[in-house]
Amino acid sequence: EWLRRPATQAILAALEGASGRTRVVGGVVRDTLFGRERTNPDIDMATELLPVVVMQRAKAAGIAAHPTGIDHGTVTLVLDNTIAEVTTLREDVATDGRHAEVRFGTDWVRDAERRDFTINALYCEADGTLFDPLGGLPDLEAGRVRFIGDAAKRIAEDGLRVWRFFRFSASHAQQRFDPEGLAACRHAVGHLDHISAERIGSEMRRMLALPQIARTLAVMAEIGLLDAGEQVLGRLFAYEALGGASSETRLAMLSNGDVGRLVAAWRLSNAEREAMDSRLAAADLLSAGKLAWAAYRFGEAAVEGLALAAARGGWRREQLAEIARELGRLPVAPLPVKGQDLIELGMQQGPALGATLKRLETAWVDSAFTLERKDLLLLASSGP
Ligand code: ATP
Ligand code: MG
Repeated sequence: EWLRRPATQAILAALEGASGRTRVVGGVVRDTLFGRERTNPDIDMATELLPVVVMQRAKAAGIAAHPTGIDHGTVTLVLDNTIAEVTTLREDVATDGRHAEVRFGTDWVRDAERRDFTINALYCEADGTLFDPLGGLPDLEAGRVRFIGDAAKRIAEDGLRVWRFFRFSASHAQQRFDPEGLAACRHAVGHLDHISAERIGSEMRRMLALPQIARTLAVMAEIGLLDAGEQVLGRLFAYEALGGASSETRLAMLSNGDVGRLVAAWRLSNAEREAMDSRLAAADLLSAGKLAWAAYRFGEAAVEGLALAAARGGWRREQLAEIARELGRLPVAPLPVKGQDLIELGMQQGPALGATLKRLETAWVDSAFTLERKDLLLLASSGP
């Protein structure tokens, strides 16, 4: 689908010509051959054209071009809803473990060899022709996430590859781990201190959105790559067994109540922080049986809070379903009395009015939203 998309074809056509070839590579090729729909629409491309030429060609074809990583040879092209990261063929020359020095080249096998896993070194041309220089396709079919070259060396070059190994083993190998790769990862833990929180967070975020990852997280914890105890792991397994797959809920579980620590460790966004906070707070209310309050305060997030409470409490599936039904039946609505109504009853604006509104709100939610407006107004005038 993505290859036939007019925008993809237009980008490839703009970059095609006598001075060099352009191919699609990475996630889209891998996932399409794997028979998987992509949620992340970004397309990675590799080209023989120099970055400046990519910029020129794109602009001439009316495609927006941004030099997002021009020193590394990456130009981002945007056409309609398609975003293509176009990187000039390169070879890593020297590295200090974080920053690779690169040299532009025209050697496709060299380009493949600097990638992380064989399944990520699959290339595809505009007409669909596949280029698989390192045996990525058989590995993909066998569910094998195999490092290109010597795993230990590749991890020493860039430690993030350890996290990527686990992410791709979860997404493409049914959480089975290539023994060689796993051994190298296990060995590397403890020497991985200088990887940025942002890069780790980005890999974790993508992993946590997969349907099944509890086993992967357990192995990561076992080798010391992830800070998660037995209890947290147990909840993650329970959550999956109940059919849960929300990354925010998983983050809330992994935070084990300390949201700030996780936000810092993985440089999470404010939105993610808020999602974790609301799920944890909703779960607390639900564990205490305060369904109406959870629904009133957290709306949609209450349902995920419920899954979290279920995983924490070891509820059975039927128990969860029953409470979910109850939650769904609640006629949740905002307080049907406003400050203006109280002023019309003769109350003065001020702290007392605020306190009365709070009292009415409590009564309203405690009644599971069944009190009528006239009951509430009566309650207001009866005073505390
Ligand atoms: P996704 O489906 O998440 O986009 P992806 O494989 O496309 O997966 P990206 O992070 O978009 O992952 O990277 C694009 C390609 O660049 C990869 O397929 C891989 O070939 C190469 N690559 C990315 N990160 C690394 C790395 N740390 N080391 C080596 N090669 C990498
Ligand atoms: Mg990608």
